[in-house]
Amino acid sequence: MADIHELSEQLSNQIAAGEVIERPASVVKELVENAIDAKATQIDVGIEDAGLKTMTISDNGLGIPKAQVALAFLPHTTSKISNRDDLFRVKSLGFRGEALASIAAVAKVTMLTATEAGLGTQIELAGGKVLDQKRQSSRRGTYVAVKDLFYNTPARLKYVKSVNTELSHIADIINRLALAHPNIAVTFANNHNILLKTSGSGDLLRTITEIYSIGVGRQMIEVTGADLDFKLSGFVSLPKLTRANRNFVSLFINGRYIKNYALTRALIAGYGSKLMVGRYPLAVLNLTMDPFLVDVNVHPTKQEVRLSKEDELSQLVTTNIQQVLGAQNLIPDAVANL
Ligand code: ADP
Ligand code: MG
Repeated sequence: MADIHELSEQLSNQIAAGEVIERPASVVKELVENAIDAKATQIDVGIEDAGLKTMTISDNGLGIPKAQVALAFLPHTTSKISNRDDLFRVKSLGFRGEALASIAAVAKVTMLTATEAGLGTQIELAGGKVLDQKRQSSRRGTYVAVKDLFYNTPARLKYVKSVNTELSHIADIINRLALAHPNIAVTFANNHNILLKTSGSGDLLRTITEIYSIGVGRQMIEVTGADLDFKLSGFVSLPKLTRANRNFVSLFINGRYIKNYALTRALIAGYGSKLMVGRYPLAVLNLTMDPFLVDVNVHPTKQEVRLSKEDELSQLVTTNIQQVLGAQNLIPDAVANL
């Protein structure tokens, strides 16, 4: 065996990147989340060949000051938390300071960013190395272009599935991010074809309609509820509007899209026998709580979370869905269909 030695920074970044950046959709997720954290009101995502060739994300958010642009691409650099306590009250989507470093480790990246319209900073990186940095005119906000993802990690590239599969993963993540932020106008184009456009009206039902369809929007009913620890709001479908899988159930905890089996089951339990076996509702549920009650630092992608009072929250979800669907029964079908 060779002597123990420290891995080069480039190599260790490449290894770490594997945890955060699994596929093109992971890049889109991380970059759109950064735009959301930067308080953008408009986010435009453009991809070519399902992201395998190019992904561009542009926002009108706060931008990064010149002196911090290169720093943002180093591993474990973040402006979002600074001490241990912060970790237990995370309000931003990001906090690990890993995304930009990970993306730059496994792709070719250009960023143009400015904190106000005028002169901004353009930086170019490939395989984790800064190739160039210069001043460049820019509007306020940040534009990131990611090219040739996994060009230097052939094993990972092989794992990437067909164009259609990758495209559907990207569309799925953008849909959820747009649903979580009805106040942000989001556009998404693949090979210059617009696949999604939300108005940023701030109206969740309108956003649901923009993402799914007018027909779906008409068959969604509002839910709101609360107990001492949790608040619940959103829309769920009438029992007659169902899908064959859970992909149309979107659960957000404090604005973060999460996957949680217990809460999904609680939602379905609220439908009781109204739901046909093997069918799933459409739902967009916003759950808000003290950040102290939810640990988001369970997995690098942060889609899995640990809830301190999962049973209580599940109960709240089930009860509220039951109530709102129960009240629906009193309205004749003809009126409900208006
Ligand atoms: P994290 O989001 O966990 O902080 P990232 O690697 O994604 O880590 O980003 C590093 C830092 O770069 C962020 O903390 C933020 O300060 C800055 N940053 C990244 N993207 C943007 C953006 N679109 N607009 C403004 N600042 C950004
Ligand atoms: Mg981030």
